[in-house]
Amino acid sequence: MSIHLGTSVKDLPGIGAVGAKDLARLGVLTVRDLLWYVPFRYDDFSLSKPIPALRHDDAVTLVGVIRSIKSRPSRNRHLTLTEAIFGNDSGELKVIWFNQPYLEKTLKIGSVVSLAGRINRKFGSTTLMNPVCEAPEAKINTGRVVPIYGLTGSLTGRRLRAAVKEALRAAGEFVDWLPKEIRETEVFPPLHEALAAVHFPPSSEIFDQSVHRLKFDELFLRQLMFAHLKRERVVIGAEPLECPILEIKNFVEKLPFKLTDGQRKAAWEIVKDLAKPEPMHRLLQGDVGSGKTVVAVIGALAALKAGGRVVYLAPTELLAEQQYQTLQKMLPDFRPALLTRTRAIWGGEVMTKKKFLEALTTGEISCVVGTHALFEDKARMPEVSLVIIDEQHRFGVEQRHALMKQNQDKAPHLLSMTATPIPRSLALAVYGDLELSILNERPPGRLSIATELVTYPQEKKMYEKIQKEIEAGHQVFAVCPLIDPSDALGVASAKETAEKLSKNQFKKFRVGLLHGQMKSDEKEKIMSSFVAGELDVLVSTTVIEVGVDVPNATVMLIFGAERFGLAQLHQLRGRVGRSSFPSFCFLHSENSNYVSQRRLQIMVKSQDGFYLAEEDLKIRGAGNAFGAAQSGMPDLKFANLGDTDLMKKARDWAHRILEQDPDLSAHPLVKENILVGFERVHLE
Ligand code: ADP
Ligand code: MG
Repeated sequence: MSIHLGTSVKDLPGIGAVGAKDLARLGVLTVRDLLWYVPFRYDDFSLSKPIPALRHDDAVTLVGVIRSIKSRPSRNRHLTLTEAIFGNDSGELKVIWFNQPYLEKTLKIGSVVSLAGRINRKFGSTTLMNPVCEAPEAKINTGRVVPIYGLTGSLTGRRLRAAVKEALRAAGEFVDWLPKEIRETEVFPPLHEALAAVHFPPSSEIFDQSVHRLKFDELFLRQLMFAHLKRERVVIGAEPLECPILEIKNFVEKLPFKLTDGQRKAAWEIVKDLAKPEPMHRLLQGDVGSGKTVVAVIGALAALKAGGRVVYLAPTELLAEQQYQTLQKMLPDFRPALLTRTRAIWGGEVMTKKKFLEALTTGEISCVVGTHALFEDKARMPEVSLVIIDEQHRFGVEQRHALMKQNQDKAPHLLSMTATPIPRSLALAVYGDLELSILNERPPGRLSIATELVTYPQEKKMYEKIQKEIEAGHQVFAVCPLIDPSDALGVASAKETAEKLSKNQFKKFRVGLLHGQMKSDEKEKIMSSFVAGELDVLVSTTVIEVGVDVPNATVMLIFGAERFGLAQLHQLRGRVGRSSFPSFCFLHSENSNYVSQRRLQIMVKSQDGFYLAEEDLKIRGAGNAFGAAQSGMPDLKFANLGDTDLMKKARDWAHRILEQDPDLSAHPLVKENILVGFERVHLE
């Protein structure tokens, strides 16, 4: 059958109905989707060597003949071992497979095969471990740089690679929408070639050019979207929200603490913006713990006092709950409400979603905190005047646009907040034309967080220190990493760790477990008992990463620290050191690799988010790995924060094209692509 971009993936070889269901969970339905499902890394099996020259840990492809093959149970009987003797002109070596007894039948003695795997020389003899096997002419899984995809369900890398190979036959149908002028000036490869090279790199040079082009595409579209949004904002205008300064002064005076200069300045900038007839478009940047919430609350107060309505968006249910409580405490007169996927509360009263949505739609609710749930259903608040987005990197451009769209004839004022510090010079390219407010000092009285790198030999001492902290009445976060990308929630490792800790090191203490697969009322229960001090240790996945505020917690223990980026580690560390008690951060790592140790050392040396962000950029800029999880820019697949030069280039091109053709009428394909981008509203 002939394959087109619109063909369902179930018609691809080796996928079928079951495979199609697995792929659907990844959002991949058609051949087109599959071609955009790019590898998250590659294994380089392009190297081949004479057998006598093989070293321990070499990744190689070897072509030769199967001389003998036999399966047997392993000594402990948990595994089936299949052993083969394989040879070619250069010599002979042993091959071992685990739990693939069928190979004994399929690999005929005397057949010529291509094997790709790693060499083990630990036990004297040279052995090729668990290699992938295919006919030498296939060149899909061996003899090349092999793409590694995120998998779910019954899918295997091998089946997916075969399907992608087949799907690539339709790649020529992609219309290259990028203006010819740009393609020629920048010497970019055509879109379909670039995409093919990302799946099966023909050479490192072509791969680099291809990734470069795809990154440019994303950044260019993004810049055009920003420009478009800006024009729209200016045309639509906003309701000016004027609030008497005295009201704000009164509020600030009643706060239990004195605002820092940065907070004072940022709040003032926001209050001034709100009074203008153009929509505010401001980004509040401040390191973890710098006190962004209270600044946002002052903005909310000003809007509410002026008779406006406020939406406060949080990236997780946990954070929505917490910010709801903060608002309830600080703005009780305005009866804040909460809407998440599972909970609807107004004026302290839990209600059905239906009743809640009624109150929202009629405009009775004037201040609501929520998650993505606010985009779902028919959650429509009339005349939203201020939208606050907490931890803005979790929301894409599209969501912001969706918010503008749901609002009637005026655009809402927008305040985004982020703890991911980005140098001022880069902020425009990353976030578009936002005004910036920066909190660059921590509230007074905070001590720095003593940070230590811990490997196995120092473990005992570390646990002793932590036990002392708990005995002194303090609390502990223990965070576990993802084990592999298909376990996107890190649940397995968190469960295991919680069990181990509660049986051993923290036997005497109360240990709780929190992970993203728990129901949200369970999550909330665990979190509130931690907040209430009923738990001493909270073992969790990175769900606690963003924003959670528990001042009594003084220890952050991070397992597998080498698996996290510096910016993320800094975020995690920021969960402690929120009181005047001394706090500790232990970066636990079993990886003694020099590079990762040195990277973690940067964390030990610095507590400055801006510095760490810059170091993180340097590290990212050097690597070529891509994937949304790493990018730091949520709506991008290829580009990341390290691509500074390309960002500037994309911005220049976008402005040049718009200057010649402001409404893009001469560039219909470009326009179409921007619209597609807008419609792709991802609801997590
Ligand atoms: P973040 O910027 O990470 O969102 P938060 O707004 O959660 O930080 O604030 C962290 C903690 O600091 C909160 O407990 C908050 O009440 C407290 N805080 C905020 N501003 C000040 C201040 N000026 N002085 C003392 N404590 C403050
Ligand atoms: Mg916060």
